[in-house]
Amino acid sequence: MNKNSSNTMALAPNPSNKRETVCIFGTGDFGRALGHKMIQSGYPVVYGSRSTQISNLIPKDAEVLGHAEAAQKAAIIIIAIQRQHYNFLTPLAEVLRGKVLVDISNNLKLNQYPESNAEHLAQLLPGSKVVKAFNTVSAWALQSGTLDASRQVFVCGDDVEAKQMVMNIVRALGLTPLDKGSLLAAQEIENYPLQLFPMWKFPIFLSLGLTAFFFFYCVALDIIYTYIYENNDFSFFIAITIPNRVCPVMALILLALVYLPGIFAAIIQLYRGTKYRRFPDWLDKWMLCRKQLGLIALAFASLHVVFTLVTPMRAFASWRTGKGIISQVLNNKTEPLDHTNAWLSDSYLALGILGFFLFVLLGITSLPSVSNNVNWREFRFVQSKLGYLALILCTAHTLVYGGKWFLSPSAYKWYLPNIYILSLIVPCAVLVVKFVLIFPCVDKPLTQIRQGWERNPKYSN
Ligand code: NAP
Repeated sequence: MNKNSSNTMALAPNPSNKRETVCIFGTGDFGRALGHKMIQSGYPVVYGSRSTQISNLIPKDAEVLGHAEAAQKAAIIIIAIQRQHYNFLTPLAEVLRGKVLVDISNNLKLNQYPESNAEHLAQLLPGSKVVKAFNTVSAWALQSGTLDASRQVFVCGDDVEAKQMVMNIVRALGLTPLDKGSLLAAQEIENYPLQLFPMWKFPIFLSLGLTAFFFFYCVALDIIYTYIYENNDFSFFIAITIPNRVCPVMALILLALVYLPGIFAAIIQLYRGTKYRRFPDWLDKWMLCRKQLGLIALAFASLHVVFTLVTPMRAFASWRTGKGIISQVLNNKTEPLDHTNAWLSDSYLALGILGFFLFVLLGITSLPSVSNNVNWREFRFVQSKLGYLALILCTAHTLVYGGKWFLSPSAYKWYLPNIYILSLIVPCAVLVVKFVLIFPCVDKPLTQIRQGWERNPKYSN
């Protein structure tokens, strides 16, 4: 059947408005939950089970028969049974010939078997049309109706018509089928529910490593150094002061790390004079987790905002303010307003507020529900142009905050720079190189390369 005719079949209204019977092998958790949902959607359901006794767990409108009898009643049979029991299907090969078998199974480990469960089923029953589907939906979500986060159902199979039939059922259940191609895709689909935050591993480990490094760096300089050389016990800094130093530093560095791979990619493309060669693996992986890095950066920036807002409530802050007032009273002298300081503090706060606003905007536009509603140009405008603006504002916020004492010798305890100085290295490098890249003499060849031009074409006409 060609593509058009199968689409027509998918869209054609059912004249009798009656759905075809679906058979489910297995009355376990998933079989029952799926049967329940199917009955709600108007499908007559017949179960094929080892026991034909009806338990009160089974949906009340469903029939329960032996496997062979049940299979004869439907063109589609959903195999809601673990892979290790598939051998019991071999004697049913004749009854199942020409039928659509839906493999919904998952494994306990990634790549547990050499071939996918669906391919194994197709090898056991070569006369049947095997389609992989539903394995990423949980029985609990089907039963409780909480499917908002997982409406997508990956479907794959070698028989186009069989796949269309299954995709029609998926749609009728209120879910969204996503055609992943032939049965070769089954292994990947089966591995999908077993992956643990695949795109988050590198950003999380990197953030944990950097956070630990900066935390202990601050403990050494702000607590241990002060204790040894000034005999002051500031160990309580561990609770708020140090986290409020580490969080903005992390937010700024991670935001810069979102844009750094794009800079590397541009340099590599300029150097090679073509876009038709693969980037190194590490750069590909880095580019793929930019969204995650950005979201973690946003989390650190949000924590920085909260820590800053609670600062005036701290006993240390009120003690320091009181000390300043008392010293003015004792000296009978009112300190005049330092206008430079007032400008600096208002400016860094304003830069921080604007930077944070753009940070939040970036985070919101990276949510699938929002990014699906903007076109590619709008998405690029927010993520690239406004993203760079957020990086400029946040870098300026740090520079204005610490600028005046970055150069003072007291900022270098044990000859080590303050963490604010360290935090500026990557963002400043990214901004300087980006500035060079937007010069017309560099931007023009880069744009041409990205449009397909090659300095030394491999295939010339
Ligand atoms: P389950 O509760 O253990 O039920 C499996 C059913 O298989 C049993 O109720 C039984 O049905 C049948 N069965 C067991 N041993 C058998 C044997 N030796 N021969 C023939 N039939 C046998 O498992 P489940 O949670 O429903 O999962 C079923 C399949 O769905 C699995 O492949 C799983 O990976 C997949 N899946 C499950 C979920 C989930 O959330 N549970 C989500 C996605 C995919 P009868 O007693 O009626 O014969």
